[in-house]
Amino acid sequence: MRPEILFSLFSPVTKLNGVGPRIAKLIDKLRGPNIIDLLWHLPSGLIDRRNTPSISNAEAGIVATLTVDVDQHFPAKSRRLPYKIICSDATGTITLIFFHAKEDYLRKLLPEGEKRIISGIIEHYGNKIQMAHPDHVVEVENRAEIEIIEPIYPLTQGLSQKVLHKAIKNGLTLIEELPEWLDKAYLKKQKWPSWNTALIKAHTPNDETDLAPENIIHQRLAYDELLANQLALALIRIHMRKKGGRPIIGTDIIKRKVIAALPFKLTNSQIEAVNDITDDMSSDGRMHRLLQGDVGSGKTLVALLSMLHAIESGTQAALLAPTEILARQHLATIEPLATAAGVNVALLTSREKGKKRTSILEGFTNGNIKIAIGTHAIFQESVNFRELAFAVIDEQHRFGVHQRLALTSKGRNVDILVMTATPIPRTLTLTAYGDMEVSRLMEKPAGRLPIDTRTISINRLADVIQGLKRALEKNKKIFWVCPLIEESEKLDLAAAEDRFDQLKSIFGERIGLVHGKMKAVEKDASMKSFKEGHVDILVATTVIEVGVDIPKASIMIIEHAERFGLAQLHQLRGRIGRGSNQSTCILMFSENLTEMARKRLNIMRDTEDGFMISEEDLRLRGAGEVLGTRQSGLPEFKFANLTAHGELVSTARDDAKLILEKDPELKTERGINLRILLYLFERNAAVKFLRSG
Ligand code: ADP
Ligand code: MG
Repeated sequence: MRPEILFSLFSPVTKLNGVGPRIAKLIDKLRGPNIIDLLWHLPSGLIDRRNTPSISNAEAGIVATLTVDVDQHFPAKSRRLPYKIICSDATGTITLIFFHAKEDYLRKLLPEGEKRIISGIIEHYGNKIQMAHPDHVVEVENRAEIEIIEPIYPLTQGLSQKVLHKAIKNGLTLIEELPEWLDKAYLKKQKWPSWNTALIKAHTPNDETDLAPENIIHQRLAYDELLANQLALALIRIHMRKKGGRPIIGTDIIKRKVIAALPFKLTNSQIEAVNDITDDMSSDGRMHRLLQGDVGSGKTLVALLSMLHAIESGTQAALLAPTEILARQHLATIEPLATAAGVNVALLTSREKGKKRTSILEGFTNGNIKIAIGTHAIFQESVNFRELAFAVIDEQHRFGVHQRLALTSKGRNVDILVMTATPIPRTLTLTAYGDMEVSRLMEKPAGRLPIDTRTISINRLADVIQGLKRALEKNKKIFWVCPLIEESEKLDLAAAEDRFDQLKSIFGERIGLVHGKMKAVEKDASMKSFKEGHVDILVATTVIEVGVDIPKASIMIIEHAERFGLAQLHQLRGRIGRGSNQSTCILMFSENLTEMARKRLNIMRDTEDGFMISEEDLRLRGAGEVLGTRQSGLPEFKFANLTAHGELVSTARDDAKLILEKDPELKTERGINLRILLYLFERNAAVKFLRSG
């Protein structure tokens, strides 16, 4: 239950003076229904009203606060003309201009013969000085009503600055002093104010630097949110570990067989990752671990060895891929190695039907088939295993924390290993996957040749085609990736087909096409003839993006490379450079490249380190963009901004870990205050793990 101290913050904005149902609806649209939501709506700018010149000294285009005598009203002669009021001081006169204004309202606001303080933007019109619709008009003794420095809030249609500002000011007076949940020493070291002070200061900036995410006020507020998030994730992490795990003890016998049969040595990173994973499995807690590795770092093999660990203990394992192509790809890698070691593997997708399907399902149920490979669909259907102990989920940021929780709470107390297709920046990993332990493959197999990456304008298409002629004479295999066109599969397809026709007219029949609209069988056939060497150039939309393993391919052309995300380009490029040939990647860009696009393409040209590319991408584009979608598993923060506050994330993670080591039930004084923090950021779901824990 929400602590009482937060009740007023979590009451509806209609509790505030001047906020009725109509305004409440607008505030809800802007931020949310409650007062706390409104208070997270921070100013994006400010107006400095300290400038108090005399009329003759008032500069045009600048906000001024003037003390004037109201001399005479000149009501509008027609509805199209403005209402004018002449005011003056000892140095000159100023005309106030109002459109569509009511006379009695203006006569009350600015009575002839009285003094008023007005504030607004000064305009010069010919040699006249004027002000249209002053922001403020007050009586001299109410001068204090005009804020010297006025915060400016982002608005939504129908909501005025004045009404919003008033509601926020009103809301700020309702906050109770919340007890400190941060470590006192850390607070002091950072010179951070209390939460209450920080929030009030955030709404009363003194200058532009007060609006910047780097200042201590914003840092404090962001840290609170990041800590709440990390604390919630840590609670889930601990809860997952405790829940329904069982020791899976391997014998190493099958693993050793497979390793001995490999034509290469495992990298140190692979060995470490397998050790992390099998240690987790052998413990009695449930595993919930993320495996991150650069493209081509050999994640599939790590997954296989981990699955074999489960099989050595007499249980079964499953590998879930996001697409059918990928599931098949995994099967192709895993099956020969597994069968050679006497382990039965089967693929299950929507395409296995009839008798075949029945016999596969039987194999899962009676335990003859040890490894199941398939799309996520196999978890949705009622597939039964004799004893499934371990699942590998190969995902492309498709699942959020909650979906993963749902998956693991299906009653099967399986250990879970999640693999991501590309490296993700560290701060995002901690945030989107913070409920998991993390293993990273930082190293690539030895002996890979670097890929020669070039950026070339589309104007030089003819040169590129000439180059391909030479490459084909040397028996090179080429991927030609067609442009991404504004999320429209139809247009993508049209572009790919056009390019396919054009290249066919130049290079003849040994050219293939693969795209997302093809039936799975057709796709497979295309990929197969490329893989087997019957086709030299494979024109593709981005369906080849993930996982496709064709070691012979050594050239990749990407059209309109500037339209792709860096992670996507990195994935695409990862399709080449897998064999022993020197590989080349050509990033073709269109005219009028923006500065940002140029920078991004240069990063691709200059490095092949996926971790570095992802960090740069985050820096240039921001978190939401890097992970791609709203379903990325990234929580929506009310305030914290992972680009600006990223460096606070790992501190928050360590902090959360330490807190729960010392006070697992959050029962100490600080612990109780931290519960308030969790509720403040609506991490209520995590609080319940405290009791069930
Ligand atoms: P990714 O991490 O991109 O999924 P894969 O698992 O598809 O990488 O591996 C890429 C290629 O590297 C595969 O052909 C695989 O057989 C090979 N590979 C994996 N581990 C090693 C290693 N230690 N040494 C050499 N090649 C390896
Ligand atoms: Mg792979």
